[in-house]
Amino acid sequence: MTVLDTKLRFWRMTTAEDRTTATRILTSVITANVDKLVSVFYGTFLKHQEGSMFLNHSVVHGRLSLSLRNWLLNLLNLDEVETDAFQQAQLQIGAVHARIGLPVHLMLEGGSLLKVEIAKILSSLPDVDASDKMAALTVLDEVIDYSMRLMSASYVSDTRNRAHEDEAFRLFALGQDITTERESQRAALMEWCQSVLFDLATGRDVAALEPLAQSPFGLWLRHRAVLMFRRSNILQSIQAIMERVDEEILPAIEHAKRTGSAETVKYIGHLQGAIDEIKYLLSDLFQSATELESGRDPLTRVLNRKFLPSVLGREITLAKKNGLPLSLLMLDVDHFKAVNDRYGHTAGDAVLRQVAEGLMDLARASDFVFRYGGEEFLIVLVETDAPEAFQVAERLRRHFEIRRITLPDETDLKVTISAGVATYEGHPDYEYFINAADAALLRAKQSGRNCVVEHVARAA
Ligand code: GH3
Ligand code: MG
Ligand code: MG
Repeated sequence: MTVLDTKLRFWRMTTAEDRTTATRILTSVITANVDKLVSVFYGTFLKHQEGSMFLNHSVVHGRLSLSLRNWLLNLLNLDEVETDAFQQAQLQIGAVHARIGLPVHLMLEGGSLLKVEIAKILSSLPDVDASDKMAALTVLDEVIDYSMRLMSASYVSDTRNRAHEDEAFRLFALGQDITTERESQRAALMEWCQSVLFDLATGRDVAALEPLAQSPFGLWLRHRAVLMFRRSNILQSIQAIMERVDEEILPAIEHAKRTGSAETVKYIGHLQGAIDEIKYLLSDLFQSATELESGRDPLTRVLNRKFLPSVLGREITLAKKNGLPLSLLMLDVDHFKAVNDRYGHTAGDAVLRQVAEGLMDLARASDFVFRYGGEEFLIVLVETDAPEAFQVAERLRRHFEIRRITLPDETDLKVTISAGVATYEGHPDYEYFINAADAALLRAKQSGRNCVVEHVARAA
């Protein structure tokens, strides 16, 4: 991911010579004071009301101290600063900050705090002359600013992507009826086409033909569809045809009509062809998006993993705000590969559907069941503490242990599941929470499968 124009990006003020001197001075200052800088940083932010919310978790503290330390030391490899690796590292940090919801201004404040602290140490050095200090300060300023620019660029793009998923989830949660939307847009498209044909037939001023992009259909396409079907190739094809209609076909019709050319009929044929093409693509667009927009996994009908960040982010916020417990179950079908190998992939699909049904039946209405991977499911158990979550997992495990699954050809078989349980313990990054459940699942597999293992939190 390259987010900044490389020409704009770096070394606005300093020369290579300045940088050699500056590197030497900065290296000695930062290496000698790195622990002090890290502790001033944390000291300041822990006193900061907003900042302390992100730092008071012991794991965060341990990990971030280490990352901050490395980040500071890496800044000094000035030859590395212009490499992709440096850029990627800063982008990655920005994305993590976005994921944990750290306000962007706090991130920038952190950068300027460090800049000031290093500058203070630099200016108090007795045996460095003023012009070298100046060069070192300038380089410091540029490197930290550059890093901050990269971090905020990826922060913003990450946040924007998340906002899209949230919006998609909102539509899903509102129970928006996608079939109705498809029908009404198809009708809007036809209406526009008919009114154009009517205008042509009745000899109205052809220059006044309404462009498709300005019609209700065009407006919907440019505003709503872009939000609903973002990044869809089908949508891009429809947009291209719409442009062709407005920029080529309609002007050709107008011109032919005005000049009384016999070509009018031919161009009207082109218009109808283009509209048919849009209609066809529109069906495809809705078809491909129905499952996604309905939020469900096409095979198992449980929630699509795409919505996990929205759901989990929201539940973590609620749990923190209300001081209520929140748990996760990560479940995986045991030896599922053997089911596919023995009965075939279609039978495997049937098993997955029935496992999902079982999970949905046994989960409470307030819980969220996601398909996390091939034969892996994740259940978000709201307002559920560790012992309760363990019980839920045990109940699910026993359900499959006892029950036989019937395949379409009437053969039946048994599958078992393993589960990992994790209970939220305050880390702001939801991935950390998921990883905890995943680690517990791994231990369940290692302990022989068909069992439930609880994640045991450990301090950093
Ligand atoms: P373990 O007990 O360690 O979980 O063993 P396993 O065989 O269940 O796990 P492994 O990860 O080795 O195999 C999972 C298999 O699930 C491999 C993959 O082909 C299959 N799979 C993934 N998605 C689907 C799907 O949608 N349908 C079917 N039929 N099979 C799937
Ligand atoms: Mg498995
Ligand atoms: Mg698996």
